[in-house]
Amino acid sequence: MLIDTHGRVATDLRVSLTDRCNLRCTYCMPEEGLRWLSKPDLLTDDEIVRLIDIAVRLLGIAEARFTGGEPLLRPGLVGIIERVAALDPRPQMSLTTNGIGLKRTATALKAAGLDRVNVSLDTLRPDVFRTLTRRDRHQEVLDGIAAARAVGLTPVKVNSVLMPALNDDEAPDLLSWAMEHSYELRFIEQMPLDAQHGWKREAMVTAGDVLASLRTRFDLTPEGNEERGPAPAERWVVNGGPHRVGIIASVTRPFCAACDRTRLTADGQVRTCLFAREETDLRIALRSGAPDEEIARIWRVAMWGKKAASGLDEPSFLQPDRPMSAIGG
Ligand code: SAM
Ligand code: SF4
Repeated sequence: MLIDTHGRVATDLRVSLTDRCNLRCTYCMPEEGLRWLSKPDLLTDDEIVRLIDIAVRLLGIAEARFTGGEPLLRPGLVGIIERVAALDPRPQMSLTTNGIGLKRTATALKAAGLDRVNVSLDTLRPDVFRTLTRRDRHQEVLDGIAAARAVGLTPVKVNSVLMPALNDDEAPDLLSWAMEHSYELRFIEQMPLDAQHGWKREAMVTAGDVLASLRTRFDLTPEGNEERGPAPAERWVVNGGPHRVGIIASVTRPFCAACDRTRLTADGQVRTCLFAREETDLRIALRSGAPDEEIARIWRVAMWGKKAASGLDEPSFLQPDRPMSAIGG
């Protein structure tokens, strides 16, 4: 198993399949994009499947979540999912995506064995979408979310980040829309992981702000949040049920003590935390012919050193060198 010195066990693997993206969300990437990883630096499809196999067979991973960058841009995505679905034990599989291209691929993803999707959508207003993502592709995202539900990639979770003076007034509208379509809505607090290093704590929309805004229209009752376990989202029952809304308050109410994650970047580095400043290279071991047991050992050692907390609240906190899009959110 992947245990750390604080007694946590990682069972949830986030795999970044690419650092590239077709949007430019202002809280994530600069307008001009970033210097992308070169093809030889990226893990191949075979290498990714091999690492996930090692993770489920030797390290106790039960869940694999594909992310990026934009994972739908990875040409071999359907094939990777198909091969991971055939592993023994088979992990639960989900995809975190911006939804562009999902309308076209949802059926193939479902057939390959994908269980669920999380789609990111911050606004219901096309003009705000254009400002936030610097692209005019709002309808494609809405179509992608609808297609995911239609093919049964459910529950479809929708992730929203609220930004001051842009979409911070939209929480109640987003929740009404999500309830109408039976999507599970979760708000994510903006974190200091943007490539431009523009995050300011005093300027972010907090979980408290989101709750206050939702309560102007809805009655919210906390749902067993004291038992939320490793789930990052605190949940509230809306208007007595059955709908729920989640808030992932990584900054103001961190859940590090219950964290069950390990991360793999698209170039084969293990990260113990989104905010870690150290990485452990598995690609070099893979490419130098290391056997599975040796790769598993390196991964275990990396996770053993996982820090107790993200350190966001410490004066010495330094944003990691890799932005969110290159870590895999
Ligand atoms: N491109 C895909 C997407 O947008 O869903 C997957 C990768 S993206 C990095 C994963 C999630 O991270 C998205 O829900 C996005 O909104 C969120 N995200 C990106 N930058 C963030 C930041 N600085 N703070 C909080 N969430 C962020
Ligand atoms: Fe792309 Fe996702 Fe980052 Fe937006 S949040 S720029 S969709 S990687």
